[in-house]
Amino acid sequence: MKLNTSLSTMPAGYLFAEVAKRIKEYSASNPDAAILRLGIGDVTLPLVSAITDAFTIAVQEMGTPAGFRGYGPDFGYDFLIDAIIAGDYTARGVEINRDEVFISDGAKSDVGNLQELFAWDAKIAVTDPVYPVYVDSNAMAGRLGQYVDGKWTNLCYLPCNAENGFVPALPKEKVDVIYLCYPNNPTGTVLTRDQLKPFVDYALENDALIIYDAAYKAFITEKDVPLSIYELPGAKKCAIECCSFSKTAGFTGTRCAYTVVPKELEYDGVSLNRIWGRRQATKFNGVSYPVQRAAAAVYTEEGQKQIQESIAYYLENARIIREGLVKAGVQVFGGVNAPYIWMKTPDDMKSWDFFDLLLKKAHVVGTPGEGFGPSGEGYFRLTAFNTKENTQAAVERIVQIL
Ligand code: PLP
Repeated sequence: MKLNTSLSTMPAGYLFAEVAKRIKEYSASNPDAAILRLGIGDVTLPLVSAITDAFTIAVQEMGTPAGFRGYGPDFGYDFLIDAIIAGDYTARGVEINRDEVFISDGAKSDVGNLQELFAWDAKIAVTDPVYPVYVDSNAMAGRLGQYVDGKWTNLCYLPCNAENGFVPALPKEKVDVIYLCYPNNPTGTVLTRDQLKPFVDYALENDALIIYDAAYKAFITEKDVPLSIYELPGAKKCAIECCSFSKTAGFTGTRCAYTVVPKELEYDGVSLNRIWGRRQATKFNGVSYPVQRAAAAVYTEEGQKQIQESIAYYLENARIIREGLVKAGVQVFGGVNAPYIWMKTPDDMKSWDFFDLLLKKAHVVGTPGEGFGPSGEGYFRLTAFNTKENTQAAVERIVQIL
């Protein structure tokens, strides 16, 4: 068998493995150190009762002759698709049709699989730092060239840093696909409608496609930040939007997401909606009925009220981190419309050196920015997914060592 060498020669995904290794080593020689983790990218609050109630009822239904269901519709049950359209689009003046929404088991699978739509030589652009799935999935398909000194030779990087206010410049070369993630992981920053518009215009002018990852949209608090890229005129002609219940409603372990592929999206006269549907129907067999019922409960009045409380809890943690660090004179970004805070390391310290300092002197863990791409060097990610008490204690310890 001839191997896919693009896959077999991939550099190891070392970031979180390296973080875990360094914590393990330190804990082994310092067993009394009470380590606080602000590196967690996973939710920590339990599912709310509106969701578990709907989940439980649906599981019970499955155990009755009348309620049993086998394979569901390829792209999801109408009850969930209708709830998504009404709750996330119609309510905001965006018209989306049932056959434009594809329910899936996660935004990670969707953003990773979408590259199957592109030609092998399609030119890809990503913001830098970046959620690694966009890059790695294209690299595995052999699209990004060689990995040299921490960069892919055939990938267009759009740096986001303090100097440009985390607003990426448009690609200088002609690209086919641009991945955008807002609110952003790892920086926690956002683009306003006015800042996003040039990307939509670029895509329309250059026959390019935007993959818009809105996994963190539930954290948006500011009015000028779009909740969907389709709020921008023309976006339905150039953008696919990926959303998830993971961070919105604590579904990281339950698994449910959706991707919108508008009918207007056409390249070389081919409908992306049609070929994405073809791909999904062949390779994916749907999300379980109880999980889709649980996801639909997110849109009930009680569900909305309860998930908003969880989001407010995380946003309060983000505020504690942000304001605590600002008071200590640290340059911080994000944390207003996102559960992530992106801080500049003191004295331009390398991000892994700062990781070691924080671990050893403050017993606090975060994530070194360099792990998210070359422009992440000199930055550090802290997350709001811990208890309020731990968050407060961690900030106090960080401030003390600074
Ligand atoms: N997109 C971004 C930007 C993420 O940070 C994550 C998870 O951390 C995901 C997608 C994954 O979402 P899901 O749990 O729906 O697969």
